Amino acid sequence: MFKKKFLSVILLFSLLLAACSTGDNDGESVSEDGLTITTSFSVLGDIISQIIGDYGSVEYIVPIGEEPHEYEPVPSDFQKVSDADVFYINGLDLEEWLEKIVSNVTETEIVEVSSGVTPIPLVGDDEDDPHAWLSPKNVIQYVENIVEDLVARDPDGESIYRENAEAYIEELMELDEWIEEQVQQIQEEHRVIVVSENAFKYFGEDYGFQTEGVWEINSHEEGTPQQMNRVIDIVGEKNLPAVFVETTVDKRYMETISENTGVPIAGEVYTDAIGPEGSGAETYIKMMRENVNVFVSGLSE
Ligand SMILES: [Zn+2]
Repeated sequence: MFKKKFLSVILLFSLLLAACSTGDNDGESVSEDGLTITTSFSVLGDIISQIIGDYGSVEYIVPIGEEPHEYEPVPSDFQKVSDADVFYINGLDLEEWLEKIVSNVTETEIVEVSSGVTPIPLVGDDEDDPHAWLSPKNVIQYVENIVEDLVARDPDGESIYRENAEAYIEELMELDEWIEEQVQQIQEEHRVIVVSENAFKYFGEDYGFQTEGVWEINSHEEGTPQQMNRVIDIVGEKNLPAVFVETTVDKRYMETISENTGVPIAGEVYTDAIGPEGSGAETYIKMMRENVNVFVSGLSE
């Protein structure tokens, strides 16, 4: 008898909590400060911030400079996710640590923002490549997914979300056109991107580059002598003027390739994180401009 009563008190208490919380999905009880959003890594953090503007708050889990594939979540990350109205992830298996979040935080809804993007498979693997954000064309799809989800969650903010999203999509379309123009400066046979992790496949497919990496994906990072020799051969055969290195990987592999081929590393590119304050790559759009500038200056001679 007591047990039953105790249970119903708990039930009543959780119902009250649910009614007061900002996390329910009926769109009626979002706090005046807007939605509290947590996302997995810094690139998505910026993209979502562009749509939210000042109306709500966005936090991301994987710090700039750390690995988004095989990150080890800490207790404060679980807190960030459970405090959020929604947890936005890239999906396409980027967040290999998602299971740890799910087993510690059960009440926050998880939404994949890459839905609808046509996946490119990893070479020699039946998994998909998660780096869809490296093509702005896909990011337009991300923005459309995010804005629809925000509007459903918080109808009061609809006009703000839609206006911000529209302006941002416009900027992404300008970026897309700008990239198309910039690429023309590189002769066709030099349109080859060589980095440590073969993360530019979506970019390469959309802008006409062959892409090569020492390894396919950071979570399978190897850098075996065979992998190194394969890339050294490609750089030589193609007579490439430059190779590149990412801000988020161990640079020694590309340094070895550069030493073995005599081809310089033309610069650092951003793949799995935006840049820190003062880097000139603090937003997704800036990081992509920086990447393209580095590709063009290295490959067009
Ligand atoms: Zn990656």
